[in-house]
Amino acid sequence: SKSRGKGSYTFFQPSMLNVLKDRQVRENEIRHAIVEHEFGYHYQPIVDVTENRIIGREALARWTHPEKGLLPPSSFIPLAEQMSLINEIDRQLILGCGALAVNSSEGSPQASYLSVNVSATALINDSIKTLVYELEKREIDCRNLVFEITESTLISDPTKARSLLRFLTKRGIRVFLDDFGTGYSSLSYLNEFPVSGIKIDQSFVRQLHKRKIQKLVSSIVTIADNLDLSLLAEGVETESQKNTLLNLGCHIQQGFLYGKPMAKDGFDAFVKAYPA
Ligand code: C2E
Ligand code: CA
Ligand code: CA
Ligand code: CA
Repeated sequence: SKSRGKGSYTFFQPSMLNVLKDRQVRENEIRHAIVEHEFGYHYQPIVDVTENRIIGREALARWTHPEKGLLPPSSFIPLAEQMSLINEIDRQLILGCGALAVNSSEGSPQASYLSVNVSATALINDSIKTLVYELEKREIDCRNLVFEITESTLISDPTKARSLLRFLTKRGIRVFLDDFGTGYSSLSYLNEFPVSGIKIDQSFVRQLHKRKIQKLVSSIVTIADNLDLSLLAEGVETESQKNTLLNLGCHIQQGFLYGKPMAKDGFDAFVKAYPA
């Protein structure tokens, strides 16, 4: 009946309100976390398998929440992106933990480069330039820095993205395409943008037992060879994945088989002891 319809309308409102309130709370928590420096990095080793040597590490954001403890990126990055706060978080992480990590590994052949994830909007606004100038002011060796970007990052303003990529490359910062092969136009990106490397997405690594996936990966290896791009595979969990990748010509690998992301002290100890 009509009165019932009305009733369910008023019933709907409080729950809507709760959703909004919940979001408001989470937004305030994120703002607070930036002010209180609650974001930090964990580090995952990147291994040259033929030399059995750690050649770098990927920095992965973690949130040490005062009540909930350690939280993964999925719990704050999507919302931070919507709030346009992701650049602020990336900036704080790179200038803080990132800069420290680059400088502390200076002179050590192990784990020499640091790969950081840089979110979508960074490459189409000029804040990335300010960031690089600040790194240079702090005498961070940018040649030990890699920015990982996903293909969707570049879509919205290719001209701007190209010019910022050139700016980075000129300063020694290498840019790798993350999650390679999962986007809509991987090949045209390689044609249009001056990137230095590609990361084969873990969705391929997980399916390496399939003949067709092996052929795909083999083609990616050929592309990387022909274009002089660095190539690595992520999400390597098993010996069999490791060996299949080696046979296909991909010897730079990252994944739980070698090491999970670790807090700084744990990572440093891991590097010292490697190979176990
Ligand atoms: P990603 O850049 O593709 O990072 C790889 C993800 O796979 C990480 O998840 C890592 O912990 C996980 N991983 C690594 N090896 C293995 C493996 O062998 N098996 C499996 N199953 N997983 C593995 P995490 O740390 O939860 O990060 C998720 C995503 O959040 C990242 O995906 C990246 O897109 C984003 N992200 C992380 N840190 C940052 C950051 O500082 N800034 C920005 N903008 N995004 C970040
Ligand atoms: Ca990444
Ligand atoms: Ca990835
Ligand atoms: Ca990913």
